[in-house]
Amino acid sequence: MPIRSDWHIHTRNSCDEAALTVRDLLAGAAACGISDFGITDHVHTPYNLLDIEAARREFDAACPPASAHFGVEISCVSEWELEKIARGEVERPVYGIREGGPAGAELAVGLPEEERRRLGIEYVVAGVHWPLYVPYEADAITRDYHRQLLFLACHPMVTIIAHPWWWMGRWRDTDGIYRSDPWLDDFTRIPAAMHREFSEAVRANGKAVEINLGAMILNPTYTERFRWQYGEYLAALQSEGVTLSIGSDCHDAIYGSDFDRAEQILERLGIDMSILWRLPSREY
Ligand SMILES: [Zn+2]
Ligand SMILES: [Zn+2]
Repeated sequence: MPIRSDWHIHTRNSCDEAALTVRDLLAGAAACGISDFGITDHVHTPYNLLDIEAARREFDAACPPASAHFGVEISCVSEWELEKIARGEVERPVYGIREGGPAGAELAVGLPEEERRRLGIEYVVAGVHWPLYVPYEADAITRDYHRQLLFLACHPMVTIIAHPWWWMGRWRDTDGIYRSDPWLDDFTRIPAAMHREFSEAVRANGKAVEINLGAMILNPTYTERFRWQYGEYLAALQSEGVTLSIGSDCHDAIYGSDFDRAEQILERLGIDMSILWRLPSREY
């Protein structure tokens, strides 16, 4: 079954290297046969809200169809960094404060509910993007990621959990491939009890879990073995009753992903594409 939706797309307004204009997205999605989709630029802390205001203006000016939506991608951050940033103690906290916080810091999201409403944000994709002040040691990071994932799964603002267990940064081989810690050598290193607890939390709170194409299923810096193990994990979540959603995580200036290849992989994994998460068209 072809992929027809994409709920994780970055525009040039995002704080990272994303480069796509909303106009080019609208044309590109139509060309790729993607009928239902949404833009999701990053909000790590309120410092990024100017980007979201710019995205909102560009989105509205492009006169999008009712099946195009306005979302954001938030991160799991800490109360500690939000407070420091609110006090003006950091000059340009584009990615919050990534060092020096207390281990076990109280978890938080950087998007106040009143800002979500003011900006007309229709849905919230939320991801774990970095460890929160724990040592760079595989077991500590696994526990920390699980703690963050559970926090997001229980947070009332969150609609979709983005790319569970995505990893970037340390432990990358010189050829650019991740083959070792914290779990990139073998996804079964993560205790099954964590997956059970996450699956239960997601179902109890009615969240969707993302099939992220660019950062996970098609990520060229992960091994094929890892990507397959990860796909089996997503298929297992679906068989337990978890709703899955599709996200290209496109950061390019030209919209797209290798949707054909992704479709083949998802089919081989036995993922049922007819029951994916979808936001109804907006009403005017
Ligand atoms: Zn992300
Ligand atoms: Zn993203």
